[in-house]
Amino acid sequence: HLEVYAERIDIEGGWKGVILVIRDITRETEADRLKTELVSTVSHELRTPLSSIYGFTELMLNREIDAIKQQKYLSTIHNETERLSNLVTDFLDVQRMQSGGQRYQMAHLDLYSIVDQVIGVYKASNGLHDIQLHLLSVERPAIIGDETRIKQLLNNLVNNAIKYSPDGGQVDITVSTDQENATIQITDHGIGIPQYAFAHLFDKFYRVDNSDTRRIGGTGLGLSICKEIVKEHDGVIHVESTVGKGSTFTVALPLHALENV
Ligand code: ADP
Repeated sequence: HLEVYAERIDIEGGWKGVILVIRDITRETEADRLKTELVSTVSHELRTPLSSIYGFTELMLNREIDAIKQQKYLSTIHNETERLSNLVTDFLDVQRMQSGGQRYQMAHLDLYSIVDQVIGVYKASNGLHDIQLHLLSVERPAIIGDETRIKQLLNNLVNNAIKYSPDGGQVDITVSTDQENATIQITDHGIGIPQYAFAHLFDKFYRVDNSDTRRIGGTGLGLSICKEIVKEHDGVIHVESTVGKGSTFTVALPLHALENV
């Protein structure tokens, strides 16, 4: 974004000229846009889970309810609390990324075991998600990375795959290698992503806008965080998707042989 300012100068004695000031205001415009987006996302994304938690706790406090209903309400409260907690984490991360205050603690990592741990957490709470998760891999690539960040990256992608899939759906995760990279692929059979969205998908606050995504909810921050984490690891991330059929997110991270560590 450029801001252009022009002023004509007339100097006695016949000198005439124009002063042209062209200022790059990309950063300011971007900061303003982020602030506006933040306010509208916070107001929507906080209000929905909060009113749901409020409503269900009120129901439980004011009425005699049977154990089955109680379980159902508690499960909703649990899900909504999780949603709020993810929301706060995402906001803080984006804020930190913005101010450049994110430190990466690089170490030698066994990628397969990290993927396995992340999936294990989802499997343990499967009752809440009802999605089949399959880890298909025969390789155990070694990478150099920040374990917390790599887990966050995988979490965001697996979480999206689950979130944008119908109940009872299946998500496949593969870990593989080629000469230079370790590759993780996360494939779902959910709602898919329209072609026009590909160019913006990894931008902060970008969400595909349709009735499904509005119902499911989200901040549009998860993939922007993924992009940043992958960049810090000198990797690449990309997506292939067909509306109504599903999506595959692929992350490639440079391989590091053990002896180079
Ligand atoms: P959100 O909090 O909205 O899920 P993300 O940054 O994680 O934010 O994703 C941005 C948008 O990309 C989502 O709003 C959704 O429209 C689309 N998206 C991401 N992952 C998937 C997926 N696995 N299937 C379908 N759509 C997806």
